[in-house]
Amino acid sequence: MIISMRFSASEHMEGGITLEEAVRSVAIMEQAADIIQCSVGMIHNEFTEGNTFPMQYMQRGCNVPFAEEIRRHVHIPIETVGGINEPEMAEQIIAEGKADLVAMARSIIADPDWANKARDGRPEDIRPCIRCLRCLNYSRRPQTGTSVCTVNPRRIIHTLLPDTGTGHTRKKVVVVGGGPAGLQAAQEIGKLGHQVVLFEKGDKLGGRLEFSEYLSFKSDIRRYRDYLIAQVEKLSNVTVRLNTDATPQLVSDQRPDAVIVAVGAEKFIPGIPGAEGSNVIHSGELFERREDLGQKVIVVGGGQVGCEQTVWLQASGREVDVVEMEDQLMKENWRDTPEEHFWTEFYMTHEYDEGRTEVEHARTIDRVRIHLSTRCVEITDKAYGRRIRREADSLYRENMLFWPQAFAE
Ligand code: SF4
Repeated sequence: MIISMRFSASEHMEGGITLEEAVRSVAIMEQAADIIQCSVGMIHNEFTEGNTFPMQYMQRGCNVPFAEEIRRHVHIPIETVGGINEPEMAEQIIAEGKADLVAMARSIIADPDWANKARDGRPEDIRPCIRCLRCLNYSRRPQTGTSVCTVNPRRIIHTLLPDTGTGHTRKKVVVVGGGPAGLQAAQEIGKLGHQVVLFEKGDKLGGRLEFSEYLSFKSDIRRYRDYLIAQVEKLSNVTVRLNTDATPQLVSDQRPDAVIVAVGAEKFIPGIPGAEGSNVIHSGELFERREDLGQKVIVVGGGQVGCEQTVWLQASGREVDVVEMEDQLMKENWRDTPEEHFWTEFYMTHEYDEGRTEVEHARTIDRVRIHLSTRCVEITDKAYGRRIRREADSLYRENMLFWPQAFAE
């Protein structure tokens, strides 16, 4: 029986295991174990858990240097783990002598065929984990006792929705929309052998996932988008028609047996006076209109989108005020992805640098001011003027006009 022992080569916290102590400990461990798996961090600490389960803000493979150091001091195989989900990267770590083995968990949840596809030289077919940690949080809930996966729907419904296989009547299906939902639908239907025509009104596939091109910490989403596109492009029975509006006539000309409408969400403009002014940019258009942004920006809405865009805005040196009606940021889905929300909030007010492998040395910045329990009631045409009413404190009865200097105070 092979005994593999997992431990943290550094807990990254005061009073926790240091790398020097870990080096001394492995001399004892190697007398009993056959393999040592080097993790980093400590899962009961929200800061250092970010290393144990590296998320979008951490570099993939951020724990490898620790395995490499431990490997210098032992004579048994060392395994590294943490955010490694590309075969090429795993191969490189081993080829460079940084570890003898690479372990992964979330990548296998996202795609149970990971190893087979890697072995067959089909890395583009691996459904990439986007490191959101929903799987972990569902499995931690006693009432569910199982885990889900954001990118692998069969993770939870595999017993309810078995592979239908072949042997059914071939149908013609029109998919309207080439965003993630349309691509996933075309892929699933195409793999069952049906004939699919996908209409996309834009000049490329991927839809709203385009935003991942602009946010360095969304590289996992970028990979996921590329995976979806690659899967659809591989299927000879799926025809993609770009720059095409799916008019009723065009759809009925196809004589489809079924139509899947996957056109995404409509832009929502709140009924705030001034919300349609030229100085207002909808979050979905932020990157298209980034040239229009000034140095000072107010983000109205502290949900996940507003907060992640705030990380980008502050990292580009801008001053940001975030106005949120609730008493907490990103309240809508804290339950599902608390770690991701914790780090988003952290990087709203700390220096974000793309190559980070540890979080503890991130410096605090003061470019972002957060206004909770605050409602935006009017947007004026002044460069930075917003009239907002604070609802949760003594200012409730007054409408306050907040100017830059008022915020600064
Ligand atoms: S739920 Fe998220 S973190 Fe977990 S395996 Fe799926 S994509 Fe990865």
